[in-house]
Amino acid sequence: MTPRRVTPTSKPSPRLTPEPLPKPKPTNKQTPPGFNAVISKVNSADVQYTYRAGCPVGPSQLRKITMTFRAYDGSVRRGELIVAASHVQAYTETFRAAFNAGFRINRMDNPNVWHGDDEAMMAADNTSAFNCRAVTGNASRVSPHSYGTAFDVNTRRNPYLAVNDVWYPSNSAIWIDRSKRDAGMVSSSSTITRQVIERGGIWGGTWVGPDYQHYEFR
Ligand SMILES: [Zn+2]
Repeated sequence: MTPRRVTPTSKPSPRLTPEPLPKPKPTNKQTPPGFNAVISKVNSADVQYTYRAGCPVGPSQLRKITMTFRAYDGSVRRGELIVAASHVQAYTETFRAAFNAGFRINRMDNPNVWHGDDEAMMAADNTSAFNCRAVTGNASRVSPHSYGTAFDVNTRRNPYLAVNDVWYPSNSAIWIDRSKRDAGMVSSSSTITRQVIERGGIWGGTWVGPDYQHYEFR
């Protein structure tokens, strides 16, 4: 059917004096906070359990991003990531885009909370970056997290199959099934994945031994 064009039969009468615009009513509802990130230097307390002498990257080569994130329940919270100073902009823009896309993050606490213990931190579903340590499940390899260029997202909902054929963390079994659609799960089409890849980084979710939680800037 061809839509009929409606021709106005009369012009609106011109107003000589414009009506004052109604003043916006004050409201008790708070505007939902947008993405906000504050970048600061890293001191020894920030890396108390994640850095020791001999680690490849020290506090002066790291930065702390204190930023807002959207929790699983949709509320906006604040967390922190310790990252390589050289990649602080890439991190900030990646998490800004993820926030604006509505991506959910369970928690973003300093790994010091778990004394830097990656297995305990993964079981707690934490999102983190810098942690000077060996690869979990492969003690002979230095983890890229030791450089602050790698980060892990929602570690329980995005588990990791190590070379020892063990899925980590141990409480993540139901999320090995990637056809699930729970908040905070990542895939190749997630904003966070696309952001990292656009910036020349990689996502561990496509590896033969998948590491769904793992991203790395190069
Ligand atoms: Zn990782």
